[in-house]
Amino acid sequence: MTGNESVRTRFAPSPTGFLHIGGARTALFAWLYARHHHGKFALRIEDTDQLRSTEESTRAILDAMTWLGLNWDEGPFFQAERVEIHRAMVQKLLDEEKAYCCVCTPEELEEKRKSALAGGRKPKYDGTCRNKNLSRSANSVVRFRCPGEGTTTVRDLVKGVVTFNNEELDDLIIERRDGYPTYNFAVVVDDAQMDITHVIRGDDHLNNTPRQILLYEALGYPVPQFAHVSMIMGSDKARLSKRHGATSVMTYKEMGYLPEAIINYLVRLGWSYGDQEIFSLDELIRVFTLESVGKSAAVFNPEKLLWLNQHYIKECSAERLVQETRIFWESLKLDTSDQEFLLKIVTDLKPRARTLVELAEMSRFYFDDDLDYDEDAAGKFLKAECADHLAAVAEGIPLLQDYTKKGIEDFLRTMAGERGIHLKVIAQPLRISLTGKTVSPGIDEVMTTLGKDRVIKRINRAIEYLKRNT
Ligand code: GLU
Repeated sequence: MTGNESVRTRFAPSPTGFLHIGGARTALFAWLYARHHHGKFALRIEDTDQLRSTEESTRAILDAMTWLGLNWDEGPFFQAERVEIHRAMVQKLLDEEKAYCCVCTPEELEEKRKSALAGGRKPKYDGTCRNKNLSRSANSVVRFRCPGEGTTTVRDLVKGVVTFNNEELDDLIIERRDGYPTYNFAVVVDDAQMDITHVIRGDDHLNNTPRQILLYEALGYPVPQFAHVSMIMGSDKARLSKRHGATSVMTYKEMGYLPEAIINYLVRLGWSYGDQEIFSLDELIRVFTLESVGKSAAVFNPEKLLWLNQHYIKECSAERLVQETRIFWESLKLDTSDQEFLLKIVTDLKPRARTLVELAEMSRFYFDDDLDYDEDAAGKFLKAECADHLAAVAEGIPLLQDYTKKGIEDFLRTMAGERGIHLKVIAQPLRISLTGKTVSPGIDEVMTTLGKDRVIKRINRAIEYLKRNT
């Protein structure tokens, strides 16, 4: 035992939407912290908000976590299934007079809030029901009796020491009228009962933490360590939203990103390890510490994410790339039945594609023997005088024994030499015959991937076109 094996972290999303890129980063940090310390990582779905929680969101969050490879050791736990436990703990506080029932109506509270604001005072529950000793009823909420004085200090592993005046804290509602616990109460009971040692979450919750610490103390639970990680901002320093680009993790999947690119990108947002930019997951587990997480908000940079994605596409094995790209080929209605062919295609394209969507798009010409020629390219390069060169290539290929990139290159060079022309004079018309465009992977790569039969067929088709159009 190193003493760290007991580290237990969790991710506790509310299922009210997709997994946001900021949520994924928080989950990643909690996951990495647990993995680094050989601890446990739990997933808890905080679905006590009956109105806003949906099963669809839960599914979407679990799918995104799975896609990113953020596996959990325990859970998913569903907070709504634990309501009886929360109620029992509310009762315990009521019995100990650490909580009380309150029947102030939302309208009354709203009135008081307005008049506090109008009088320049901070709105705060005025304690009307604090000493009435009311019992639970259909109209009552339960409030926590906050100590009105003293201070509560959060020793945050990222933010440092942050002290709050208890005077500022309300007698907060811990159980709503509908009998469901509020977030601040349920999160404390669940984190305590799940033996969470490190609560790692977004810094939008920092202000809740003193309230939660007071609840831990009132319930007699040990207080965990906290680490509040900053939010992600757009380049304009506003909180990351749709107008800065996609914010849902799974949208990146649909846009042809690899999960390792997302992970690598997210971890570097506000965390660093020297100047290193590229990290494998194993390496991250080894070197990740909370001490190196920055305090300030991180700025989202979609270009860097794209750059990392390109890097990981380049690094990816052809087998996996085929598997990952299949869905994008299928949506373009391309024939994915010939695995060998697909392996060759991705090998040609992987140094060039930034996303899997781009890869699928760029690969279209491989599948289409009847491709359209780019008009400008055809006008410029598919000229009558090329017909003879192209015909010579088509005739030479069946005899070419060394049909490899090297063999093809030698064959084309020799042919150009014999004909007293520059290689380009053959290569460009050939490229357009085979790909329809002037920009493509190397002609030797394209020719080996297409194979002799397709190449000959396409060259003959270009010759026909030449005859018709020049
Ligand atoms: N359900 C809360 C949220 O999604 C969890 C916050 C926490 O981790 O304590 O914001």
